[in-house]
Amino acid sequence: MRCKKCHKKASVELRRHNTSFCPIHYIEFVSNQVSRNIKKHNMFTSANRVLLAVSGGKDSLALWDILTKQGYNVTGLHLKLGIGNYSLKAAEKTRAFAETHELQLIEYDLESEMGLGVSRLSKSIKRAPCSGCGLNKRYFFNKLALQFQFDVLITGHNLDDEAATLFGNVLHWQEQALSRQSPILESTHPNLVKKCKPLYTLTEREIASYCLLLKIAYQEEECPNAAGAHSLLYKDLLNRLEVQSPGSKQQFLQGFLSKIRPSFRSQETVTLNECDSCGMPTTGQVCSFCRMWERARKLTDPKLVNGTSNL
Ligand code: SF4
Ligand SMILES: [Zn+2]
Ligand SMILES: [Zn+2]
Repeated sequence: MRCKKCHKKASVELRRHNTSFCPIHYIEFVSNQVSRNIKKHNMFTSANRVLLAVSGGKDSLALWDILTKQGYNVTGLHLKLGIGNYSLKAAEKTRAFAETHELQLIEYDLESEMGLGVSRLSKSIKRAPCSGCGLNKRYFFNKLALQFQFDVLITGHNLDDEAATLFGNVLHWQEQALSRQSPILESTHPNLVKKCKPLYTLTEREIASYCLLLKIAYQEEECPNAAGAHSLLYKDLLNRLEVQSPGSKQQFLQGFLSKIRPSFRSQETVTLNECDSCGMPTTGQVCSFCRMWERARKLTDPKLVNGTSNL
């Protein structure tokens, strides 16, 4: 197995591209994929202030590394979710990376700001942890990006994440979700920040190889709430398909983005109001974030829970 670029011994094989790379040219390949995605979709430029949601996992740390080396102005945002040891370790990995690379990091602690972390919140409102967690993440990523005046919010979603989400949305014919599935979501309201996913063409395995070659220490442990998640089942199915037919995940996602999604875009007619409680965009009177925390306040000791985010 020889590197496609320099013909030295290759260390990473990419079956879906029918090619192999030595460590130096593999790192270059990953970096080039990210720059190509940023330019192709006009995600941001080096003049923009970029906020990256950093979980402490391989995707967000690899993306922080790549973009910093490319000269972008990227600040990390770590949301402490309050999921026991998992959250403590995630914060440690994130902090260690930021300190070693002298990068700016904003930390936001859900439990101390709102009164409950994800674990206690899900128990109190009797809702699956991932649904409350996802809602908190979406809300605070957007709200903190606005509060600190960032131009764009980016996340480390990779090809496996995006293909699995697409699979689930197609399986259940979630038209609204399909219309929003894109590597870039422009702001459609003054209180909604632009969102981008620069890693969307790279697989989990490819990003893990990048971290391994550069000795990036990331949190390998899965969140305890991930077990049994539908997204893991979809990822497993797509991985089995990929083994038999390399490139399937990419074809599935790219085909949707280039051939199907444009027809959804023309149907987008969602009117956004401002939430009566927090002022953030919503399709109803009160946003789902405020409704969830209001329910938590009613079902828990009200002294423990703040009614709305006190940003
Ligand atoms: S697996 Fe669920 S609870 Fe855990 S971090 Fe992801 S969304 Fe949150
Ligand atoms: Zn090489
Ligand atoms: Zn609200």
